[in-house]
Amino acid sequence: MNLAAWLHRAGRARPDSPAIAIGQRTIASYARFAERAARLAFGLKSLPGVGRDARVAIFSKNCAEYLEILYGIWWAGLTAVPINAKLHAAEAAWILEHSGSAVAFVGKDLEASLAAQAPDSLKHLITVASPAYDRLYSGDASALAEAAPDDLAWLFYTSGTTGRPKGAMLSHRNLMATSFAYLTDVDTTMPGDTLLHAAPMSHGSGIYIMAHVGRFGVNAVAESGGFEPNEVLSFFNNRPGTSMFAAPTMIKRLVECGRDVAAENIRTIIWGGAPMHVADIVRALDRFGPRFAQIYGQGETPMTGTVLSKADIAHRDHPRWLERLGSAGLVNSAVEVRIGGADGNPVPEGESGEILVRGDTVMLGYWDNPEATADALRGGWLHTGDVGSIDGEGYVTLRDRSKDVIISGGSNIYPREVEEVLLSHPGVREASVIGRPDPEWGEVVIAYYAGDAEPADLDRLCLDSIARFKRPKAYIRLESLPKNNYGKILKTELRDADRTLHNEAVTNGGKA
Ligand code: AMP
Repeated sequence: MNLAAWLHRAGRARPDSPAIAIGQRTIASYARFAERAARLAFGLKSLPGVGRDARVAIFSKNCAEYLEILYGIWWAGLTAVPINAKLHAAEAAWILEHSGSAVAFVGKDLEASLAAQAPDSLKHLITVASPAYDRLYSGDASALAEAAPDDLAWLFYTSGTTGRPKGAMLSHRNLMATSFAYLTDVDTTMPGDTLLHAAPMSHGSGIYIMAHVGRFGVNAVAESGGFEPNEVLSFFNNRPGTSMFAAPTMIKRLVECGRDVAAENIRTIIWGGAPMHVADIVRALDRFGPRFAQIYGQGETPMTGTVLSKADIAHRDHPRWLERLGSAGLVNSAVEVRIGGADGNPVPEGESGEILVRGDTVMLGYWDNPEATADALRGGWLHTGDVGSIDGEGYVTLRDRSKDVIISGGSNIYPREVEEVLLSHPGVREASVIGRPDPEWGEVVIAYYAGDAEPADLDRLCLDSIARFKRPKAYIRLESLPKNNYGKILKTELRDADRTLHNEAVTNGGKA
């Protein structure tokens, strides 16, 4: 059960079909892609100190080589450790050390900074597309390695909005199940369809590579190696049958980009990873048509938990359409989802609790972290740390990370609900709501936002839209909100900053 078997099959069955593109330019057919992976597998296994269970890291922004490296690693039966190129070199070095990676492929622009910090455990640091890189392909082609279903394929380091990232161990079985889950519920990719990688391949976008190889599709890398709205729209204009994974902020920028678009060329834009405000979804639908799907998942069950399908999102005349847009959809076919109480047992229908996931997509555990593994997988369920509820029709609504829930005067307040209200104001670009410790209430609600809205107007909006006890006690405007390298707002940082700000204000006898 080796993920690379799908590439092996495609190389023989569809040798001339396009497999890899940079922008509109096809640079490899399936025959060439498979040949490159087989040669790299041979090259990797020939390196001194690279054993049967070696971990091989990739620290690079999106590039065509990413694909041949990933598949070369699997072809050899080794484990890939993709690292987000936006991380600081010191953070990447920490992951190299923690994962005990023997080899790291590094993008040219990142090479110097990483080389200065590389841990001793790293035996080979190879710059992508350098002479040393090319030499790895100059030997024989390796036979496809055997892999057991539970053999490690991908060490997925979580984005870590608190503390050090953890390495979710994803097996060949996990990633195959993830691919089936995608093809069944998210998008039925057809041969020749294209997946455009404008989001990092080290993360969500990369998880969709395998389904496209399995279906003889094309994996295309944006020429810029990143996300440029103009570039993406011009790509759509030239390429029918294109799908793409995008974070909600990326979709917002696509909507705002003035360029004309041949929307009929877009097959599916999938968003996930963070909440998307309902008004923004409607704007995106108005601009691009019914071409969106939403997924909810996390590195520990990659991209697979629930799906709000294209059909549901497009169903404007459904009586609960807007309500459904505010949900994360139905449980994905590949998994079971339970809303668990503090004891892990199911809570009554409609009530909120922790989202638990069970199924073949759920990780084996965390690399070298038995305590965190035992905690996350207790009782045989993945404890996601996300709070949500399921309605009578099976739609799952996400509330918040459990640690972000605010308890004020004994009532639970879900920041996301308040954020939704704030974001509906045209003068609010970003909003994040946190709890501030308070001697009387336990916590009080504080809103941080970016934009030109006046606090008084926001307060009026909240009074008109939500219960009084959820209304923020203060509205604090910032240039922009702190985010991690994946674009997720860092509530931990906001809370720390708020504590400092508030303490200073109290000491000065002022009011934060
Ligand atoms: P990561 O492991 O970095 O992919 O982060 C996963 C986390 O992102 C989840 O645990 C959720 O808190 C959040 N998340 C993922 N998908 C969604 C979604 N569709 N809507 C809101 N939050 C999401």
